[in-house]
Amino acid sequence: MDTPQGSLAGSRPGAGVADEPHALPGFDAVARLAATRLDTPLVALLLADGSAFWYTPPGTSDPIRLDGALLAACRQAMRRGLAEVVPDARDDPRFVSAGTEPAHAAVGFFACEPVFALDGQLLGALFAADRHPHPPPHTGELGALRDAAALAGTGVALRHYLERTDPATGLPHRNAFFADLHAQLPGERDSAWLVAIEVAPVARFHAFIRAMGHTYADALMRAVAARVHDWAGPGMQLYQVGASRLAVLLGGPQGELPSARLDALVARLREPIDCLGVPLTLQPGVGLLRVEARELRGGDPLRRVMSASHAAQDSVPGWAVYDHAQDERQRQEFFLVTELAAALSERTELELHYQPRVQLASGRCVALEALARWRHPTLGAVPPGVFVPLAEQAGLMRSLTDWVLDHGLAQLAAWLRNGLDVKLSLNVSSADLDATLEARLGAAARRHAVPLARLELEFTEGTAIHHSDATRCHLAALRAAGVGIAIDDFGIGYSNLDALRQMPASCLKIDQSLVRGLDTSRHDAAIVRSMVALGRELGFRVVMEGVETAGVLAAVRDMACDEVQGFHIAHPLRAAEVAGWLHRHAAAAPADRPRD
Ligand code: C2E
Ligand code: MG
Ligand code: MG
Repeated sequence: MDTPQGSLAGSRPGAGVADEPHALPGFDAVARLAATRLDTPLVALLLADGSAFWYTPPGTSDPIRLDGALLAACRQAMRRGLAEVVPDARDDPRFVSAGTEPAHAAVGFFACEPVFALDGQLLGALFAADRHPHPPPHTGELGALRDAAALAGTGVALRHYLERTDPATGLPHRNAFFADLHAQLPGERDSAWLVAIEVAPVARFHAFIRAMGHTYADALMRAVAARVHDWAGPGMQLYQVGASRLAVLLGGPQGELPSARLDALVARLREPIDCLGVPLTLQPGVGLLRVEARELRGGDPLRRVMSASHAAQDSVPGWAVYDHAQDERQRQEFFLVTELAAALSERTELELHYQPRVQLASGRCVALEALARWRHPTLGAVPPGVFVPLAEQAGLMRSLTDWVLDHGLAQLAAWLRNGLDVKLSLNVSSADLDATLEARLGAAARRHAVPLARLELEFTEGTAIHHSDATRCHLAALRAAGVGIAIDDFGIGYSNLDALRQMPASCLKIDQSLVRGLDTSRHDAAIVRSMVALGRELGFRVVMEGVETAGVLAAVRDMACDEVQGFHIAHPLRAAEVAGWLHRHAAAAPADRPRD
């Protein structure tokens, strides 16, 4: 190709380094000075790395382009590395392009000055050219070209620095890290320990920035970097590989885990730090990965070691070696979260199943619990025990609950229209427990013309108890509107009796793990018996979950609980199976139904 690559830095005043990685700091000013002093319509800089920059003064009526014979001649002169001035270049064969109009192709004036790095290495050359010949330049003009070339050399050094360095901390950044990593592992069998330091959990680091500003966050990173520097010792290069992340490459023989050194690093990082007068204790995570040269192609060692440092933040030692299985699990979780988000927007893979709940005294089905089911096209059935907690972590819970509300209430409305006398119980999570819940539920009920008294919400014990007075008010408002409130999975949390007494709940569902062994474990039976008594004493209806066998049902019957749910009564059913099950159940001989 006969045109120079690189940016037309000089013709775009203000073009910055940040948005144009190839821009050369200061080139505009340098080129303008040279063009003015030598009175030429073109000043150009060619660098040995192949990049080119050129400048044409604004308003130039007869511009001269850096291409064709001129570009070839500049390249040749750059390689020679010598200063050169050609006042009348019209007869010089270097400047005649084959096949071009002589009047347009002609270069009348040409001057070249080599550009050197601070260590004397030849970097490229600066050129001034005009279509018309010039009188031989005087010493001042030549001196100006020389100065401009020296300044261009400084700009190249600055660009190199900026390309490698984070301006806030002065540390080499990710690009430099990868360049150095490849340089440190030249042979196929070479390897090194890579240490990554996550300074604080991401949410906490963002909270620092929100509360104290970026200047504080930068100062914090500098303070942490100073500690890591002390720890790594002289000659060890430290990199800033993310806003709150540092990395170091350690030499050291294969197989030898520098565990004592990592303990020392974590201990140092956990010491209180004084940043701009604000005392702070960090929660660092240090990850360790043995990087093999042959894995560098295509692999991303930084991502892998960061997964270790991330995991280490919550661990007791505060450091962790990269664990492939754990990494795969996290990637799988991430994959599931993105797939769940897609499933929630497309709404074809999700379904609700309904598990009947039966009143012990009458044998009547009093409610159906809606349970979400997700059938992924390639992974198959993903259990709610997996995707519900993921939805909670990934902020998808509200979408999931809205989907459940909409779908469940539409189904309930259809059953009510068909004359079935049922209520619907819906599981909601802690993320749903706020001022919007009443409005969301109310809107869904209105949309599907379902009375609120036909609905019940189930919260797990932990969610229900650990919430604030405000939550209690929202729940009380729902209760007052006729919605039932059930405390789910009761008996495995840490509720104190006072908190329980104050819950505006109507129903207590005893966790299936306690119910399962009722007929065989006297110990479990004693616990559940006292829970039932307590629940009834506090005015709750008591439900036993997970009644799997006739033996457990018989044991439950002795305890004066109100309702039962479990595989012995019915598994969760598809919507289409519910009406049939209800009819069969109502028609069944009383002996086959739970007796009173
Ligand atoms: P949960 O609300 O306590 O629901 C009861 C779970 O126990 C259901 O599991 C049900 O299939 C299972 N189960 C019922 N009877 C028996 C039995 O006799 N033996 C055994 N071993 N298990 C029984 P599932 O459907 O896998 O749901 C698990 C949990 O996931 C639910 O526990 C609930 O906390 C959550 N979940 C399910 N669907 C939703 C939803 O739509 N929203 C929310 N927030 N959570 C949901
Ligand atoms: Mg439930
Ligand atoms: Mg439960």
